[in-house]
Amino acid sequence: MKFQYLVGIASVFFLAGCTTMPRGDNADLIIHNGQVLTINTEMEVIDDGVVVVKDDTIIAVGGHELMQQYQAQKVIDAHDGIIMPGMVNAHNHLPMIAFRGLGEEGISNRLFAYFFPLEAQKLSRDLIYNATKLGAIELAQSGVTTYADMYYHMDEMAKATKEVGLRAVLGETVIKFPVVDAKTPYGGVEYGKKFVEEYKGDALITPAYAPHAIYTVSKEKLQEIHALSEQQDVPVLIHVGEFPNEEKRLEGETQAKTPIEYLSEIGVLDQRLVIAHGIHLTPNDQKLLKEADVGIAYNPMANAKGATGIAPAWEMYRADMRIGLGTDGPMSSNQVDLVKTLSYAANMQRLKYSDRTIMIPEQVIEMATLGGAKALHMEDQIGSLEVGKKADIAIFETQSANMMPNYNPYATLVYQANPSNIDTTIVNGKVIMENRVMQTVKLDDIRDNVDAFEADIAEFAKELAKKAIKSKSLMD
Ligand SMILES: [Zn+2]
Repeated sequence: MKFQYLVGIASVFFLAGCTTMPRGDNADLIIHNGQVLTINTEMEVIDDGVVVVKDDTIIAVGGHELMQQYQAQKVIDAHDGIIMPGMVNAHNHLPMIAFRGLGEEGISNRLFAYFFPLEAQKLSRDLIYNATKLGAIELAQSGVTTYADMYYHMDEMAKATKEVGLRAVLGETVIKFPVVDAKTPYGGVEYGKKFVEEYKGDALITPAYAPHAIYTVSKEKLQEIHALSEQQDVPVLIHVGEFPNEEKRLEGETQAKTPIEYLSEIGVLDQRLVIAHGIHLTPNDQKLLKEADVGIAYNPMANAKGATGIAPAWEMYRADMRIGLGTDGPMSSNQVDLVKTLSYAANMQRLKYSDRTIMIPEQVIEMATLGGAKALHMEDQIGSLEVGKKADIAIFETQSANMMPNYNPYATLVYQANPSNIDTTIVNGKVIMENRVMQTVKLDDIRDNVDAFEADIAEFAKELAKKAIKSKSLMD
C-alpha cells in the first residue's frame, strides 16, 4: 500500500511538471506498419515503412527504426496496407456530379445540346457548393488529395473544398456566352480576377483561369488571360485536342494547322498552361508542348466513353513530359476517383500501340501521383513521399479479398483495387478520413441537399434529353 501511495504521489508531481515542460513529441503524426511507395526518383518501396509528419510537412520516410527516433500523439497503424502519395486528379468539373447519370440516352451533340442548356437552367451558387462537397467527399474516400477543376462560382467550390480539407487548383471558366456566374460573354475574366486575388497564397487552394477551349474563347481573350496569369502568377487550364479538327471552328485568320500550333502562334503556350485531353496531337504538337513545359491531363475513361479517341499518353510520358491522369467531369466518365482510371490508363495505351510491355503498373501509379503533380507544376510540393514535401498521403488496406494476394503493390493497385479499399486519407498533414470514417464533413450533413437537387433536376433533364437527341452534332 505504502509503495503504491508513493508512486501515486510521484505521478502527481511528474504530471504537474509535464504541464509546464515541453512534450517529448518531435512529430505530429506517424504512420507505420505498411508498405511505403515513395514515388521518389528511385521509385523506392519500403516494406514495414514509416512516414513521419510535422505540421503540414513530411519530415522523415524510412524503415521501422524511425519508430525509435520519433514520437507523436497521433500514430496510425496501416495494418500491412499500402502507404502512398495521395493521388492527383488533374482534370475535373466536380460540381457536375449533380448531373451524374443524366444524358445517357445516346446523344451525339452532348456538349452543346445537353450539357450547356442543363447548366444554363439548373446551376446556382447553392448547387455548386453542395455538389462540390459531395464530390470532394468522394475524392477523399478514394485517395485523391489534389484535384484540378474548371467550373463556375469558384469561390463556392473553394469554400466546400476547404471544408472537406482537400487541395485543389480551381480555374474560373471563361467562355463566349453568358453563364451562371457571368451575365455577359467572357464575364469569367472579371470573376476570375477577384477569385485569384481572394485565394492567392491559400494553403490548399491554387486559384486559376479556365478558358473553356479554343473554339469557345476568342484569340484576344486567350491573350488577355495569358497576360493576367503572368501578372498574377497563376495557372491556366484549358481543353485542347479533345475533338478532331478543333482549329476548323476558329473565327478569324490563322496560319496554324493544329490547336497547339494556334496557341503557340498567339503566344499563350507556356509553363502556366495545363491542357486537358490532348488526344489529337501531331508529333510537332508534342514537341511544342514539351518545349513550352505545358502540363497535360490524360482522361482515358472519359475519352473512351465519349468516343473521342486515345491520347498519345505513352509517347508523352516516355518523352518525360508533364503528364498526369484525370477523370474529366462526372458526366463524362461518371467517376471522380482515379482508382478505376488506373487500369484504363494502362490498357488504352496498350491497345493504341498494340504493345503489352508499356505502361506497367509502376508507371501508371507514378502518373497518378507525381505525374499529376508535374502536370499542375506542383511537384516541388506534392506527388511523392519525400522529406520536405507536403503530407498528402493515401493508405490502401490490403485485408479485403480483392486485395489478395499482394505480390506487387503497383499491380494490386492498378488491376485489383477499388476506391473503397482506401482506408485513410491525409491532406496537408491533416487526417481527412480514417478507417473509412470522414473526419471533416460527413455525407449525412449534405444528404438532404443532394436529395433536393436531384428532385429538382430530374424532370427537366428528361425533357431536355428528348430535344437533344434530335439535334445534329457539331462534331459530325
Ligand atoms: Zn473537361
